[in-house]
Amino acid sequence: MVSVAQRLEKCQRIGDTVARWGGDEFAILLEDIADKSDAIAIANRIQAALKPPILLDNQAIFVTASIGIVLGDIQIYNNPEHVTDLLRDADIAMYRAKSRAQEQCEVFDPSMHAYALKRLQLENDLRRAIAGIASSEEQTSEFSVFYQPIFSLTTQQIEGFEALVRWQHPEKGIISPIDFIAIAEETGLIVQLDRWVLKMACHQLSIWQKEFPDLAPLTISVNLSGKHFYQSGLIEFLDRILEETGLDGNSLKLEITESVVIENTEAATVLLDLLRERNLQVCLDDFGTGYSSLSYLHSFPFNVLKIDRSFIKQLGTEDEHDEIVRAIVNLGLILGMNVVAEGVETPEQVSQLKNLSCHSGQGYWFSKPMNSDAMTEFLLNNL
Ligand code: C2E
Ligand code: CA
Ligand code: CA
Repeated sequence: MVSVAQRLEKCQRIGDTVARWGGDEFAILLEDIADKSDAIAIANRIQAALKPPILLDNQAIFVTASIGIVLGDIQIYNNPEHVTDLLRDADIAMYRAKSRAQEQCEVFDPSMHAYALKRLQLENDLRRAIAGIASSEEQTSEFSVFYQPIFSLTTQQIEGFEALVRWQHPEKGIISPIDFIAIAEETGLIVQLDRWVLKMACHQLSIWQKEFPDLAPLTISVNLSGKHFYQSGLIEFLDRILEETGLDGNSLKLEITESVVIENTEAATVLLDLLRERNLQVCLDDFGTGYSSLSYLHSFPFNVLKIDRSFIKQLGTEDEHDEIVRAIVNLGLILGMNVVAEGVETPEQVSQLKNLSCHSGQGYWFSKPMNSDAMTEFLLNNL
């Protein structure tokens, strides 16, 4: 935060004000702006200033900023209500920038109010739906857990599943996790949701392990948001779930992304050790899309490396892409990790991945995610 603030200060002109707004948010007041192009030029300057990595404990950390711009009249600063409106509009533009891509800036326009209103509505609905899971059974909840199988590429046998949450909104129908997980994270609601998914998925796995002993030992992978990973009581919660379901620690795999570990390396080290003591497996999800830091990969005890589907999609298109996947698989092999390819959609991808000695695959080629009943059927057909 201090390094970011220093860089922001360097971008300001005489008369401008930079303030930390809370958390990872900053507010900058630019005076003497002729039109929006002046503000956009400064936003671009800020993004350029943030580009060089920040050194933290000898690690290079890359930060990006989403910037929302709102233009206002200097005369109104005497009116606190207008100031609140301006800040709200800047916030709305910032969220719009954030939802588009990294390193974006957006200038507020009134049509964004409709977007903000929609988002607020979704947040309220999410709050209500998550409150519902505490008091209801799985059948009556708006949420359900879908399962996508993960296959061994050597034996062609099913190894386990990834649990993926689904939200059946009473009016809007199915809403993709891509559209609500970020809101759940920002509001902290994710902890309750992730724990519910974890509980449902472990119960389901214990049923499948009993029903299909020949397929043993089936595993379940559950996504863990950063907010949830660092939430106190996680280890106790996991202990309780394992005890309730009678599952072995190594049947449960927790999927986290690199950014979660980098967010707080000290706490992550302690937590990963506690998970290892319990024999729980930790998967590095979406590998290749974030920092892809060799030193983190080496110093943290990840058991599984999941190659992001953007790399698998490009397999077979250009030699260079194939070489990248080969390098990632080899890296995983050298570090003794199980390597899983995500988003496998074609038989060509399966054979290429096999040739590269990738251990496992997950994707529409094998099966789309399905509810527990459909997955039971799938297992019966695959025996
Ligand atoms: P992810 O962890 O990378 O999950 C894999 C996503 O890829 C899933 O999308 C899955 O349906 C999709 N997928 C699987 N095979 C293929 C394929 O062959 N082709 C293509 N194009 N896509 C494929 P989904 O279910 O929409 O989930 C999106 C993301 O939402 C997940 O990405 C994960 O980051 C997050 N998510 C899902 N469930 C949970 C949850 O319970 N907790 C948390 N914290 N995050 C979750
Ligand atoms: Ca995942
Ligand atoms: Ca993934």
